[in-house]
Amino acid sequence: MLPTTATTSAPPPLPAPAPGEPHAALFLALGYMRLPELLACWRVCRLLGEAVAGDPLLWRRVAVEPPLSARMTDEVLLKLTARAEGTLRSLHLLGCFRVSDAGLLRIVEHNPCVTELCVPTCTGLTGDGVMKIVQLLHEHKGNINRLRLNGISRMSKHHLDIIMSLMSNGNPQVEEARSELFYNHRAREVLNTNDERPIDVDACPLCTNVRLVFDCTRDDCMKVKDSFPRCRGCYFCVTRCEKCGGCISSEDRAEADLVCSDFMCLDCWLTLPKCSTCNRPYCERHENLMVPLSMPGQFSCHRCMELGMSLESQEDGY
Ligand SMILES: [Zn+2]
Ligand SMILES: [Zn+2]
Ligand SMILES: [Zn+2]
Ligand SMILES: [Zn+2]
Ligand SMILES: [Zn+2]
Repeated sequence: MLPTTATTSAPPPLPAPAPGEPHAALFLALGYMRLPELLACWRVCRLLGEAVAGDPLLWRRVAVEPPLSARMTDEVLLKLTARAEGTLRSLHLLGCFRVSDAGLLRIVEHNPCVTELCVPTCTGLTGDGVMKIVQLLHEHKGNINRLRLNGISRMSKHHLDIIMSLMSNGNPQVEEARSELFYNHRAREVLNTNDERPIDVDACPLCTNVRLVFDCTRDDCMKVKDSFPRCRGCYFCVTRCEKCGGCISSEDRAEADLVCSDFMCLDCWLTLPKCSTCNRPYCERHENLMVPLSMPGQFSCHRCMELGMSLESQEDGY
C-alpha cells in the first residue's frame, strides 16, 4: 500500500517538465496502466508515444477487455503484441470474437515464451487451434502453465487430453491434481484470475462436453463425491443455487421461486427478504432491482411495481 503521508526518507521531487513536455511522473505511471490508457497515452504527444511504443516491458502482459474486444482483429493484435519484441508472457483476451486460430498462432510463433493464455468466450478460436498453439509452445520448450478456454468453439475431450498432457510434460501428478471449482466463481470472476488451476475447463461427467464443470458445495454431496459424483457437472446439466453453488432438487425448484429467472436452494431462499406483494426474493446479482417501500425493510419487486403501475394507468383511462 502506498504511504498516505510524506516521511523524511521520501525521494526528492521529480524535475519539472520542459514547456510542452509531459511530466516525468507520467512515464513512471505507464507501467501500471491498462491497455486503453496505454493506447490513449500513445496518442497524446510524440514523447509519450515513443515511450509507450518503444518499451517492450510495457507489452509483456496484454489484456484486452470489452469494449475494446469487439474491435480486436488478428492484425491489430499482432501489431500490439509485436511491441513486446518476442517477450510477451501473458495474453488475456476476453470475448475477442474476431481473433482467429491463425492469428493467435502467429502471435505465439513470435512470442514462444508465453506462459499464460486466457481467451474466454473468444468464439473465433477452436479446440484444434488452441491444441496447435500448445503443441508449438511445447516444441519450443516453452512453459505455458495457465490456459483459460471457457467458451471457445469446438473443443473436445480429445483436445483437452492432449493439451493437458503437453502442459504437464507427462507428469501424471500434475494431470491428476484437480482443485475444486464452485459455481460462484463463474459469476464473479470472468477471467478466473485468482485461481491456480492450469486449465479452467473440463469434460462434464454427465454430458461429456468440455466446459466449466462445477463441484457441489452441499455437505451431503461433498461426502459422496469421490464415489458417486452425481452432481458434479456443467451449467447445463446441473441446476445450481445462485447463492451457495449447491445442486437443487426438483422440489426446491418448485418451491423456491425467485423474481429473476435464476435458481436457489430452499435453505438459501428462506434466508432472503421477499417482495411484499408476491413473496419472492432476488438473488444477489439482481437485488439492485428492488424498489424500497416506505415501511422500513420492505420492498416491492420490479415486476409487481410495473404491474401496479399498468393497473393504475388502466384505471385512469376509464
Ligand atoms: Zn454437462
Ligand atoms: Zn443455496
Ligand atoms: Zn450436490
Ligand atoms: Zn413481487
Ligand atoms: Zn438473479
